[in-house]
Amino acid sequence: MEYSGEEFDVIVVGAGIMGSSTAYHLAKRGQKTLLLEQFDFLHHLGSSHGESRTIRATYPEDYYHPIVTESAQLWEKAQREIGYRVYFKSQHLDMGPSDNKSLQSMIASCLKNSVPHRVLDSRQVSDEFSGRVVIPENWVGVVSELGGVIKPTKAVSMFQTLALRNGAVLRDRMEVKTILRENNVKKGNGGVRVVTTNGEKFWSKKCVITAGAWVGKLVKTVIGLELPTQPLETSVCYWRIKDGNGTNGNGTNGNANGVDYGVGGDFPTFASYGDLYVYGTPSLEYPGLIKIAMHGGYPCDPDKRPWGPGMPLDALKEWIEKRFVGRVDSNGPVATQLCMYTMTPDEDFVIDFLGGEFGKDVVVAGGFSGHGFKMGPAVGRILTDLVLSGEAGVELKYFKISRFKENPKGNLKEFEDQVCIDPK
Ligand SMILES: Cc1cc2nc3c(=O)[nH]c(=O)nc-3n(C[C@H](O)[C@H](O)[C@H](O)COP(=O)(O)OP(=O)(O)OC[C@H]3O[C@@H](n4cnc5c(N)ncnc54)[C@H](O)[C@@H]3O)c2cc1C
Repeated sequence: MEYSGEEFDVIVVGAGIMGSSTAYHLAKRGQKTLLLEQFDFLHHLGSSHGESRTIRATYPEDYYHPIVTESAQLWEKAQREIGYRVYFKSQHLDMGPSDNKSLQSMIASCLKNSVPHRVLDSRQVSDEFSGRVVIPENWVGVVSELGGVIKPTKAVSMFQTLALRNGAVLRDRMEVKTILRENNVKKGNGGVRVVTTNGEKFWSKKCVITAGAWVGKLVKTVIGLELPTQPLETSVCYWRIKDGNGTNGNGTNGNANGVDYGVGGDFPTFASYGDLYVYGTPSLEYPGLIKIAMHGGYPCDPDKRPWGPGMPLDALKEWIEKRFVGRVDSNGPVATQLCMYTMTPDEDFVIDFLGGEFGKDVVVAGGFSGHGFKMGPAVGRILTDLVLSGEAGVELKYFKISRFKENPKGNLKEFEDQVCIDPK
């Protein structure tokens, strides 16, 4: 197929959740939009594939609250437009030692931002979840209403379908080699030329880069700037729920004992703070299995992946045995999947203009640091506004590239990092 020479209002590079939702928003605004992806659409080599992602409003940093809240609404809006579900609601449970600084900051931030939540002691947690989760006496649990599971591959497909329906052009197997400043666009001044490794060329007035784990490489090529983004290979694990504690897998009913780990019941998405940051989702994607994973991974080059061995499991097994008190088989996971995080030093996103000769015509978004999926719809809206009008409608100062010039570690935090890099 011959594509070269086409001209667009906006070209989006990278069709993960961020690029696909951006293409959707742009197309809905009547922009002639092109979405380019280096691999096949819905591939499993980046960050947005798989079966489940958690959505939660409980952040230690104030600046994520408006983005998560907007996103929750946009997930529901997009679902209504497509006519099927990608977002399965539940409560969310955070837990950890009561003196853990991240947990304390998160509770303070929830109070400040009016995020509905309840702080429970260990007995109350056990009562609330009918003994399915047990925490030590010196821990607290924080139950919040905005939680749930998003189906990632299905959600990316949803935004791509909605983008198409609204007139966007989608092309996969198109690796963008570089983006050049173009002063010869037929309509108006300025603009960019996007060149692919297979020799195609496209023109547009504006461009959005949402290249996931490859964002550092592409930005370096285009403008010579070193973004401090570090790709990590991580793994998610599925564990067998022991007999009598299962779910029917579609989250609609429990077993005879009323003990149910399924979504749609009263079992929450969860995160556990402390030396080990553990997260998980109610049983949804595989009947009888529950996802429980460790937040971390091994630094790697996304083009030379190690493909394993996955995260160390001893501490996670112990966590499962103690917190799920023998109801989940902690001998070992029955399935694992590999995926990519793109870390920044402060675990905050990069959302900014590329600057230099591109000024405000090229916007870059990356470094989602293992927690971006839930915010995909709002990030798409923000990138659309940024690239079209220069204004985002939310505070973006914590996401600027220049923060790393002022301090290589980026934004200052009063609490410890959550993602464990290079676990032994
Ligand atoms: C195991 C795991 C669990 C997670 N859990 C959660 C969670 O519970 N909640 C949550 O909110 N977040 C979670 N995340 C994080 C979330 O999934 C990511 O932040 C998000 O998917 C990042 O999306 P992206 O679009 O930036 O990257 P990607 O999905 O990787 O998309 C980038 C795309 O750009 C393409 N690309 C790159 N370079 C080029 C080029 N030169 N030309 C053309 N195309 C290019 C890539 O092929 C890729 O398809 C998790 C991530 C993982 C891996």
